[in-house]
Amino acid sequence: MTTSRNPFIEDDDLAGIPTTTTAPATPKAAEAKQVAKPAIKTNRIMSATTEEDDDSDAVDLVADHDHLKAKAVLPCVFPKESNKTVRYALVKDFKAYQRYTHFLEGVNGKGLTVICPGKDCPECAKGGYHSSRRKIAALAIKYETGNDGKFAQGTTKPSLSLSFVNLSPTAYSVMSECPSESEDVYSIDFKCILKSNKIGWDIFRMSSPPAYVKAGMEAEVAELAAPYADGKVLKSRLGKVVSAIEMKVMLYGSAADTTPTLDDLESVL
Ligand SMILES: [Zn+2]
Repeated sequence: MTTSRNPFIEDDDLAGIPTTTTAPATPKAAEAKQVAKPAIKTNRIMSATTEEDDDSDAVDLVADHDHLKAKAVLPCVFPKESNKTVRYALVKDFKAYQRYTHFLEGVNGKGLTVICPGKDCPECAKGGYHSSRRKIAALAIKYETGNDGKFAQGTTKPSLSLSFVNLSPTAYSVMSECPSESEDVYSIDFKCILKSNKIGWDIFRMSSPPAYVKAGMEAEVAELAAPYADGKVLKSRLGKVVSAIEMKVMLYGSAADTTPTLDDLESVL
């Protein structure tokens, strides 16, 4: 079914040709849950120094520390201001990372999204679902474009920088619906715009193949991404992992019958 879509002509604006877009799905319930999400970092550029990254323990040498510090400026691709369009693509051949989350109703007033600690998780023990509540972080290429997501006329090599996407379950499902039949999430450029209510982003299909691929910049992109191949920075962007004990305290005000053991402490990771 390629009657309405020729990826090399209709969908590529490197030659200044308008692109097609797909309306994103916006499930109401999922959106409502996003409202309560900011308790865990989801939509901020990661320049804040007060955030605890769970890869902070991984820094064991001065040299390593500098190395990680140099990488830690990796910004989130999603715009924070209304009416700002960002065009991006996922970096192929690099792993994405995921964490399962739970939404703890009533905790901290509005409820709180936490990363599932795995072993001894009180929410999993209750039969709480989390497979549909995962968070995903992946490397992305952010392009310099006009606010319509298009390149200046005559552009043959787009300006780009390395970035990442931090996806809520809703954002991930919206993104997954963008590629058409013969495509996947790595074979298209996306365009995202902050919703007018500032909760979540609208994400659209912009073009295929991604502009960086069409412009022959794959080697350049691979070089930019290489320092992040170990996943440490991406994983840290998924948020702090709470322990099963910490979660019980949040839920019940105490860890109840749980005695901390070395296993408990280790299951945090
Ligand atoms: Zn769990």
